[in-house]
Amino acid sequence: MEKIYDLIIIGAGPAGLTASIYAKRAMLDFLFLEKWLPGGEIANTYEVENYPGINYISGAGLADKMIDHTKDLGIKISLEEVNNVDFKNDIKKIVTDYHTYYTKTVVIATGASSKKLGLSGEEPLKGRGISYCALCDGALYKGKTVAVVGGGDVAVEDVIYLSRVAKKVYLIHRRDTLRAAKRYQEKMLKLENVEIFWNSEITKFNGEEYLESIDVSNRITKENKNIILDGVFVAVGMKPNVSFLKDDIKLSDSNWIITDEYLETSAKGVFAAGDVRDRSLRQIVTSVNDGAMAVSMAQKYL
Ligand code: NAP
Repeated sequence: MEKIYDLIIIGAGPAGLTASIYAKRAMLDFLFLEKWLPGGEIANTYEVENYPGINYISGAGLADKMIDHTKDLGIKISLEEVNNVDFKNDIKKIVTDYHTYYTKTVVIATGASSKKLGLSGEEPLKGRGISYCALCDGALYKGKTVAVVGGGDVAVEDVIYLSRVAKKVYLIHRRDTLRAAKRYQEKMLKLENVEIFWNSEITKFNGEEYLESIDVSNRITKENKNIILDGVFVAVGMKPNVSFLKDDIKLSDSNWIITDEYLETSAKGVFAAGDVRDRSLRQIVTSVNDGAMAVSMAQKYL
């Protein structure tokens, strides 16, 4: 007879880590799965200044604190990637690269990852001048020329960070206004080694083994420019990590998991928490809220 868990939590970012703390305190018999490293996307965040009770901390620092909290409670994270699920029955099946598990409830907290631009030349030059994480790769561009693409919080934070490392930073944004928080915008606009290409998009990455230059087109004037540089950081938003879900639960048009106000998905007993969920605000604090709420609702369901 196979073991049946009360709960399986998938993903160990802020939502999943919080879910595990609540599950442990509720004394549920649960399994906590993560495919790579615990911490999630906040580990790639420079500074966190909007988490109540902590005036300033690095993203990695806050992730470490959350992981330490789970360790102190004796929570174990099993490093396995979920490949398949079956949510049709009361007892749900979860298949990882090592095992098949059965559970009464599930919290999906798999987060989101960086979107690509989808240009030809992007895939072959990934890691050879094209990066999706300035915090991870920025140090490689000391004294060099780089560009950031995007107009959100991540793009502007990337520009600020890279301006301290690189000689010159271009920001390439497809509109003439940024959606990044005003505070970040003001900080960036004061930087002397930053130049912004408004209403512009990259049309081509050039380079054989390594990125050598980019072609940039102004969407209004139709003017084209070739910019010689060493690196491009793509920061054009996130896409949900849902590849292991087939038709098991309802997704939005852009593949975010749709939940009701109690975070239950279209499959009974399956809850979603954090960035993977279709919601209007994606912050650490909203993910933490989701993690707590999802487990509390799973407990009610049980
Ligand atoms: P985002 O807010 O969705 O911004 C994506 C940016 O990329 C937008 O400016 C968008 O342009 C642009 N873009 C999208 N597709 C593009 C394409 N194909 N070509 C060129 N440009 C494209 O994403 P994000 O900056 O990654 O942030 C993700 C979430 O995390 C957001 O909710 C953000 O607020 C949150 N976040 C918060 C903090 C913080 O509070 N400290 C820090 C980091 C991230 P348009 O503006 O024209 O749509």
